[in-house]
Amino acid sequence: MPTVVAALKLLAANNYATIVISNQSGIARGLLDDAKVRSVNAEIVRRLAGDELTIDGWYWCPHYDEGCDCRKPAPALLHQAVREHGLTLDGAAMIGDRGSDVELGQRVGIPGIAVPGRCRTSARNRICARKRCSKRRNGSCAVATEIAVRGRASCSRGWPGGASS
Ligand SMILES: [Zn+2]
Repeated sequence: MPTVVAALKLLAANNYATIVISNQSGIARGLLDDAKVRSVNAEIVRRLAGDELTIDGWYWCPHYDEGCDCRKPAPALLHQAVREHGLTLDGAAMIGDRGSDVELGQRVGIPGIAVPGRCRTSARNRICARKRCSKRRNGSCAVATEIAVRGRASCSRGWPGGASS
């Protein structure tokens, strides 16, 4: 995940806290459990440590279709992170690969930036992933972060998922 590392370095250099918020509906559906999510997160932390990088907070919604207030785009987890880490949303951005990420950003008044090129599992998209998508996706995380850090001026250009301000 080289460009994620580049993105995190950029954030660290600009005094950003990095919070991961995810929907883990697999928990409610019995496909995984809290311990599995924690172990995956721990593995990511382990890999980032080599670059002296860290993730400041992990938050996930374990629900599925239960009308909770923490499943993205609901903002409860983001607000919780802000509270628990003493952060401000001033200058923050929400970067993700789904419409719910963009919408979450919009709901709390920060840019919601979609990283394009999410690759799905159909054969057609696998081919697409080999030819184009994975490069676009890999390249886009750092670029999305660049946009978030440098300002919003170019947010609306060239991002199929759009961005809000
Ligand atoms: Zn939830």
